[in-house]
Amino acid sequence: MRPGRLRPPALMRVSTLEEAITTSHATGKIAYRGKGNIYVNITNRCSSACEYCLRDFTDEAYGEPLKLDHEPPVEEIEQAIELEFLDGPGDEVAFCGFGEPTIRLDAVLAVTDWLRLRRIPSRLVTNGHGRLLNPDVDVAATLAAAGLDAVTISLNAADPQTYDLICRPIFSKTHRAVIRFAEECVGHGLNTTLTAVDYPGADIEGCRAIAKAVGAAFRLRGLVSREDRESATKKEAE
Ligand code: SF4
Repeated sequence: MRPGRLRPPALMRVSTLEEAITTSHATGKIAYRGKGNIYVNITNRCSSACEYCLRDFTDEAYGEPLKLDHEPPVEEIEQAIELEFLDGPGDEVAFCGFGEPTIRLDAVLAVTDWLRLRRIPSRLVTNGHGRLLNPDVDVAATLAAAGLDAVTISLNAADPQTYDLICRPIFSKTHRAVIRFAEECVGHGLNTTLTAVDYPGADIEGCRAIAKAVGAAFRLRGLVSREDRESATKKEAE
């Protein structure tokens, strides 16, 4: 699955805003590359409406169109991953697109198992709503059983009120559920990282303390401000 070739030019792209925002395409990519990884875009549905979401001002990330015209079945996802590996190696396959992957938990589990059988490292990038979206499933346990290696969970706020303002979830009491999901992921041995976007007034140290308390790593993500978005979009149009 991992041809020993030099990385193609696409892998050398830097994730600048200008590169993340380009012109629109009609059909979205299921598998695409960024930061040395292969990302998998399996749905455009989401249980949040984050203030900073890329979907609000572009159809693309890393120069790839991510607005899907259909939700791909598992076989199509696996085929898209295989095609990406034909173009060169990737450090891991991460479920990360224009939507929340655990809305399609069955597909995530099936593809994760498929990756495990091929010894390809896998990671889920999630808003942490897995248990709310799949209330009858122990999501962290099933992900671990399928062979998922790592999970990156957007925390984004140190308190529930700020979380609701920034992430605008469709559920109530979501902040607590996100932290509980992180605890469960840690408990099931998943390499767990909580992240927060560096928006003005963000309680980064509070988020870092929550990550430490649940036994997860913490990563700060840069904010793409509305001004940056408009400027980059304008630049692209010139
Ligand atoms: S969780 Fe991700 S996809 Fe969903 S609204 Fe927030 S940034 Fe966008």
